[in-house]
Parts: sequence; C-alpha cells; structure tokens
Amino acid sequence: MQIRGNKVKFEIINFKNIFQSKIMNHKTLVNKAFEAKKNALPPYSHFHVGAALLTEDDKVYLGCNIENSSYSLTICAERTAIFKAISEGERKFKAIAIASDSPDYITPCGACRQIIYDHCGEIDIICTNKDGDYKIFKTSELLPHAFGDEDLKK
Ligand SMILES: [Zn+2]
Repeated sequence: MQIRGNKVKFEIINFKNIFQSKIMNHKTLVNKAFEAKKNALPPYSHFHVGAALLTEDDKVYLGCNIENSSYSLTICAERTAIFKAISEGERKFKAIAIASDSPDYITPCGACRQIIYDHCGEIDIICTNKDGDYKIFKTSELLPHAFGDEDLKK
C-alpha cells in the first residue's frame, strides 16, 4: 500500500485482540462511519471523511470532516467524533472506524493519532477503503513511541 509516496507496511491484527461487544461488530461500525461521511463538509479539498467512535458501553458517536475558509481551522472526522463524545461525558472507548471515498485504506492524520492516543488509549482503529474493506490497527501501531500525559510527570 502506498500513502503520500511513502511505503507503509500494514498488518491485520490478530482477531483475539478485537474489542468485545454484544451489539456492535467491526462491520457495523464501518457502516456507521460511511453514514457519518454523508455529512462531511469539505468544500475545498472535496475529500469526504466520516468516523464512528465506539464507547466502552457500546454507544456510537459519529463525526465528519469540516473545512473552513481559513484552512487551518479544519477539523477531521475522527476528532469531531472524539470531541463530541468527550463533551457528552464519555471517557472510555473501544474502537473507531474511519471511512472515505479513497481506494486506499484511510488512516488517521498525525494530529488525530495524537488525539486518539491521549483520549482513547489503545483501541482498535478500523481503516476502510471506499469499498468498505477494512484493516484494523492498534493505536500503538499507528503512533509508536508516543508522547503522552505520563511524559509530563517526569
Ligand atoms: Zn486528522
């Protein structure tokens, strides 16, 4: 797989590590991410992204990317979903699915990887392609050697 010119090695995680849920599986969460993508507002990049964040007690928060005329104010789908959930009092998460129209598996940007690490911890990050196929990574795989709150205490 090639992302922005760099070779990235992908591995599918052992399914024993997958989150436990009675009502939600990975495919269902993927479908929710595609549903969230419908609300994306990217008038400049035209790159529509949706995210679906699963809480510890199986609630799902949806997010989409929202672009602004001052480009740096843009927010990604993942962060929209995470900030929505946190603002509703949620603190524990199991997984996030991300969807776009790309033929490649979409992965979180660097900023979102940090936010996922800080607020979600070691969760399943479900990266889809436009056909709904997906690969699952753990947070530590996408952001190895992360800086976090523990480092602030040293
Ligand atoms: Zn992002």
